[in-house]
Amino acid sequence: MSSSKIIFLDQSQIPTHYYNILPDLPKPLDPPLHPGTKQPIGTQDLSAIFPKELIKQEVSSEQYIEIPDEVLELYKLSRPTPLIRAENLEKKLDTPAKIYFKYEGANPTGSHKTNTSYAQAYYNKRAGIKKLVTETGAGQWGSALAMACKHFDLECEVFMVKVSYNQKPYRKTFMKFFGAEVYASPSTLTSAGKKVLDKDPNSPGSLGIAISEAIEIAAQREDTNYSLGSVLNHVLLHQTIIGEEAKKQLEIADDYPDVVIGCVGGGSNFAGIAFPFLKEKLTGDKNNLEVIGVEPLSCPSLTKGKYDYDFGDEAGMTPLIKMYTLGHEFVPPSIHAGGLRYHGAAPIVSALVNSGHVIAKAYEQTEVFQAAHLFAQCEGIVPAPESAHAIKEAIVQAIKCKETGESKKILFNLSGHGFLDLGSYEIFLENGF
Ligand SMILES: *Cc1c(COP(=O)(O)O)cnc(C)c1O
Repeated sequence: MSSSKIIFLDQSQIPTHYYNILPDLPKPLDPPLHPGTKQPIGTQDLSAIFPKELIKQEVSSEQYIEIPDEVLELYKLSRPTPLIRAENLEKKLDTPAKIYFKYEGANPTGSHKTNTSYAQAYYNKRAGIKKLVTETGAGQWGSALAMACKHFDLECEVFMVKVSYNQKPYRKTFMKFFGAEVYASPSTLTSAGKKVLDKDPNSPGSLGIAISEAIEIAAQREDTNYSLGSVLNHVLLHQTIIGEEAKKQLEIADDYPDVVIGCVGGGSNFAGIAFPFLKEKLTGDKNNLEVIGVEPLSCPSLTKGKYDYDFGDEAGMTPLIKMYTLGHEFVPPSIHAGGLRYHGAAPIVSALVNSGHVIAKAYEQTEVFQAAHLFAQCEGIVPAPESAHAIKEAIVQAIKCKETGESKKILFNLSGHGFLDLGSYEIFLENGF
């Protein structure tokens, strides 16, 4: 029994394998469809923009996939990330619940995104690719990919959603610091961007539009690939290092969660914390485990969207994927949690919501920022507005425990820090929205 607030692991205990949930799903995923023929796409259709190894991971039936040594070495810059018991928050809420969080803000670019950017840059480098093009919302993904590309000596080009480009100027500097080129999206560099600007010159942009622009550029050149920071199966796979570590840390604390919580934009940090525990619910004896994904009420794909085939981007260039979606032309309002402004959600997460294994909840911006404020004052960490959605649900759960007298163990993922989101917190403090 450990009484530490922070549960560290030695670097020799960093997980050596990713957990692939695909073979453990209650039923196989509905296949992606070709946008033209509406027939299931073959893996060869993806090879214009992704390297072979990542395409293999996208459809793998192996339960565990080994992490390459070069990627493990990079993980050692910041992993294992701490698992922290939020005792001050527990006391403040006067709850019998135990609250644990995994702190992914401890990673170099401030969020979980490096868990996959290292792996994606590595596999692309090995495939002989010279340049990666991507989209970014709040700038977290662009920062993580820029850093990984610099390490593997790849060029990096980023289409950043315009509203965030203006709201979060330091993120732009962050990406440029690591050598990336950054454009506000919609831009005039692509036909997808021009089309949006023709219709609405003041478009705030969206992740869907930025994805269209990045794919358009990547598809034009042999030596250039596209890289996505969330949604796809292989991205979720790389993030499982979070939950695999958390499992080892909770073993040290002699605990197992009753509730696991993550915020959901595309679904990758949620998958990362949740899937290794969900495994025990799907194939083991943890039938009562509650797994909760939290999204903004203003972009409620999982809670209000349709479970149907839709495009992953605005222009309709991606395959049709089966997911909860608000429609690929949905442009979410300009909320501060830019990383959660996506019209859809990962196919695997969507399938698990549809089968009832994952519960989806949504909160509005003010209550989320209030939760972030309380958490920071208790635990000393300013969370990213995205992560604050998970904090809000953890607090709701802890208060429920106070009412019922249950001492549940609550685990949530603190996907990133909010040091570059202080502009948003400033507005919150001044106006309360
Ligand atoms: C990108 C991001 C998210 C949302 O993306 P997911 O793929 O849903 O994890 C959440 N939190 C932070 C800090 C992010 O950077």
